[in-house]
Amino acid sequence: MIEIKNLTKRYREHVAVSDISFSVKKGEIVGFLGPNGAGKSTTMRILVGCMPATSGTVTVDGIDVFDSPLETKKKIGYLPEIPPVYLDMTVREYLAFVGRLKKAGRGRALKAEVERVATLAGVDHILPRLIRNVSKGYRQRVGLAQALINDPEVLILDEPTVGLDPIQIEQVRKLILELGNSGRHTIILSTHILSEVKATCDRIVMIAHGKIAADAKIEDLEREHDAPLEQIFTQLAMA
Ligand code: ADP
Repeated sequence: MIEIKNLTKRYREHVAVSDISFSVKKGEIVGFLGPNGAGKSTTMRILVGCMPATSGTVTVDGIDVFDSPLETKKKIGYLPEIPPVYLDMTVREYLAFVGRLKKAGRGRALKAEVERVATLAGVDHILPRLIRNVSKGYRQRVGLAQALINDPEVLILDEPTVGLDPIQIEQVRKLILELGNSGRHTIILSTHILSEVKATCDRIVMIAHGKIAADAKIEDLEREHDAPLEQIFTQLAMA
């Protein structure tokens, strides 16, 4: 479903992502794991077509992200690291605004789609509230709700539980698992929280210093290194 081949991104002299390749099959939930500054957000921004790569290719469902950005964007729901919400809109206004951008219909159809994603993300009871006045946890969930508009096949979630309290973390993880288990979505979830990966992902792709340090199922990786994921992560991140 997602193919990243020989992807490199340079910011002037600084190489943020260096010749990385990996693929994600339809229906998989992959944890994109790495310490801060490893290159996770850069990779995700390129993957969703928000930023050009220096070299390499990315395809979603066989379609090149750089050549056909509009077509691939339709297949992707993206929750960036900082949810792109407008503080002066209500939750309903904001979701309807994104719905119009994503051509999720008009009138009653749009209203129904807003209510569907709001219910999925657990923000249906705060639809009339101004985003400015809702907690960070709810803003994150509103960000997740906008990513779910039009039921995209691919979900790219950049640190989806950052800044949430333990109960909200549990709820968001449960939602990610439900979305993954529905078999209709392919999910890449970036995080530096190991328990999150363990709780939600089938497989991990670990990135350190802009390079792929591991790509395996968690249990296979632990067996191969004869160590828990926490220890493997520290070793690979420091290497
Ligand atoms: P992560 O998401 O894993 O924390 P990032 O992809 O944000 O990592 O960053 C990877 C590296 O690229 C870091 O060293 C970061 O400082 C650098 N970087 C990220 N964005 C920019 C930018 N716009 N300009 C210059 N350097 C950047």
